[in-house]
Amino acid sequence: AHLDRISALNPVLNAFLQVDAEGALATAADVDARRAAGETLPRLAGVPIAVKDIACTQGIPTTAGSRTLQGWVPPYDATIVTRLKEAGLPILGKTNMDEFAMGSSTEHSAYGPTRNPWDLDRIPGGSGGGSAAAVAAFLAPLAIGSDTGGSIRQPAAVTGSVGAKPTYGGVSRYGIIALASSLDQIGPCARTVTDAALLHEVIGGHDPMDSTSIDAPVPAVVEAAANRDLTGLRVGIVTELTGDGYQAGVQARFDESVELLRQAGAEIVEVSCPHFDYAMAAYYLILPSEASSNLARFDAMRYGLRVSPEGVESPSAEQVMGASRDAGFGDEVKRRIILGTYALSSGYYDAYYGQAQKVRTLIARDFEAAFEQADVLISPTAPTTAFRIGDKLEDPMAMYLNDIATIPANLAGIPGLSLPSGVTDEDGLPVGIQILAPATQDQRMYAVGGALE
Ligand code: GLN
Repeated sequence: AHLDRISALNPVLNAFLQVDAEGALATAADVDARRAAGETLPRLAGVPIAVKDIACTQGIPTTAGSRTLQGWVPPYDATIVTRLKEAGLPILGKTNMDEFAMGSSTEHSAYGPTRNPWDLDRIPGGSGGGSAAAVAAFLAPLAIGSDTGGSIRQPAAVTGSVGAKPTYGGVSRYGIIALASSLDQIGPCARTVTDAALLHEVIGGHDPMDSTSIDAPVPAVVEAAANRDLTGLRVGIVTELTGDGYQAGVQARFDESVELLRQAGAEIVEVSCPHFDYAMAAYYLILPSEASSNLARFDAMRYGLRVSPEGVESPSAEQVMGASRDAGFGDEVKRRIILGTYALSSGYYDAYYGQAQKVRTLIARDFEAAFEQADVLISPTAPTTAFRIGDKLEDPMAMYLNDIATIPANLAGIPGLSLPSGVTDEDGLPVGIQILAPATQDQRMYAVGGALE
C-alpha cells in the first residue's frame, strides 16, 4: 500500500530520491513467513520505513542530496540501517534533503525541492524535508532523520508531524555522511510520539563503531510516551525563545499548549538563557568549520563525481579536484566551506572558532542553570509556519533564522522533541512545540509529549 502511494504521490512531492520496492517487499515477505512459522518478532517488524539519504545503505544509491555523490552506491550499511534490518523494518527508499544537510527548506537539494503535503507551494522544512513530507503524506509511517541544528524538529513542525533529536551520542553516527560531527544526531520521524519512541528504541544504544556513542542502555522512551499525568513536573518556558520574531499564530498555539500542560498537572515557570542570543553566531562558525573539514574527503579521487577542467590538456590532481568540487557542490555548500576554511585558518582560529567554542560552553551552562529550575524546557519549534518555495532562497540569513529555537540543543548535546500543537488561524498551517530535556534524560521529553498528544 505504501509503495502504491509513493508511486501515486512522489512525482508531485519529490519526497523520495530512491525507492527500493524489491528490497522492501522481500523484507515484508520474510517477516510474514517468520511470523507464520510462529516466530516472535521485534515489535516494529513489518512496519515500513523511509531513510534520509544521509545514511549509507549497502546496494542502494546514497547521495546526501548532492550532485557529487550522484550514483554512488555504498559498500556497507550505517549502524542504524543494520538495526532497522535486524528489527525487520522494510526500507522503502531514501528521502530527499538539502545538500549535505545544509538548509531549512530542502530547496538546496541537487535533485529539486520537496513539497509540503499541506500546501504544495510551500517548503516541508529542512534539511530532512523528504522524511517529514513522506511521513506527513502517509507515504511511510516512520522515517529516519538527522539533526545538526534542527533538521528533524523543524521539518516535523512545519509538516504537522513528530520528530526527535536524541541526546548527542544516543544513536550511532557510524555510516552517516558527516555534516558537523560534534552536532550531528540521528533520530526518528513519525506521526505520533509513541511511534517516534518505538523507532528511537530500535535505532538507539551503544555502538563501538562510533567513538562518541554513549555506553549506556537506551532510555525507556516507549514507556515514557504512554504517560498522561504531569503532576508536579516543572516545565520551563525559555524567555529568549518566545515573543518577538515568532509569528502570531505560532505564539497563540504555543500559549494554548502551555495551558494544556498546566491542566495535565505541570507547574509552569519562566527561565532565562541569556547566551542563546549568541547561539546562531556560534553555530555558524562551528558548523562550517567542521563541515569544511568533513567535506574535504570529496576530492574526486575517492568518491563520486570527477570532472576535468576545461581546456587543460593534462590537468594536475589539484586542478581536477578544483573542477570536480566546483561542479559537484551547490552554492550553499560552497558558502559554508569558504566560511569554515576561513574561520579555521591560522591567525583566525582563536578569534572565530575558539570564541565560538567558548560561547558554546556558556550556552551549555545556561541549560544547566535552567534545568535546576525546571525538569523540561519548552518553546515553539520554529518561528513561522512553512514559507513559500523560493521565498528565502536568496537570503541565507532569513533561511538560517528558521533554526533559532532548535540550534541551542545541538550546541549543548541535549535531546529535543517536536510535536504538533495545531494549525494557525491566519494560514491554517501546522505549528510545532519543542520539548527539551537534560542530556541522557530523553524519556522526559517523551513523557511530556505523550501527555500533550
Ligand atoms: N538548517 C540548519 C543548517 O542549515 C540545520 C541543518 C541540520 O540540522 N542538518 O545548518
